[in-house]
Amino acid sequence: KKIVIALDGYSSCGKSTTAKLVAAELGYAYIDTGAMYRAVTLYFLEHHVSLTNPKEIKQALDNIEIEFHYNPKSNRNELYLNGLNVEDEIRKMYISDMVSEVSVIPEVRRAMVAQQQKMGRKRGVVMDGRDIGTAVFPDAEVKIFMTADVETRTKRRQDELLAKKQLVNFNEIRENLLKRDLIDSTRTESPLRQAEDAHLLDTSHMTIDEQVEFVIERATA
Ligand code: C5P
Repeated sequence: KKIVIALDGYSSCGKSTTAKLVAAELGYAYIDTGAMYRAVTLYFLEHHVSLTNPKEIKQALDNIEIEFHYNPKSNRNELYLNGLNVEDEIRKMYISDMVSEVSVIPEVRRAMVAQQQKMGRKRGVVMDGRDIGTAVFPDAEVKIFMTADVETRTKRRQDELLAKKQLVNFNEIRENLLKRDLIDSTRTESPLRQAEDAHLLDTSHMTIDEQVEFVIERATA
């Protein structure tokens, strides 16, 4: 029987890496919901959408089409915003700087949550984000809440950016992660928090393989 696996947690603690591998192992689809909020942020910045103007926000959301398409070259689902592949653009630091401010907007959340629920309605998905186990799929069969100490998370994010030839200062990344975690966990609409029935997974001292195994064990139990 196909299930929904919800992977929530703080920024940069290995959610997407783990989710991708778990999905591959189970033959499930992997949906990176953070990428969707990043794409909305990119659109808002490009179109100078005011974050305090409900009319502009609504109009922008009506004009945003988000799709994932599998790219065999990178072996992953890549995000298309209105037909354009923006996978690289949305990972840049200027998007990370703004994304949490955009993600607090209730209209934005409602639109994204509705689309995510549609994407997972046939189940057989691994979804990573902040509110999957609490708001998007409160009935997910397996819920994992991931965390790791902030130094570990900062180092991992720095290595990730470096691999894409983006040199970003350690402290700048650290501050960004802490700022996002704070905004994400204190907003009113579906804040980041551990669902009561979620397994806590602290990845500070774990290898990727161990993280994947932790999830697979619970998904196949
Ligand atoms: O997962 P990632 O770090 O790419 O997410 C970027 C941002 O998108 C988060 O910091 C958060 O503000 C927002 N987000 C969210 N709800 C989700 C996934 C991401 O609010 N389900």
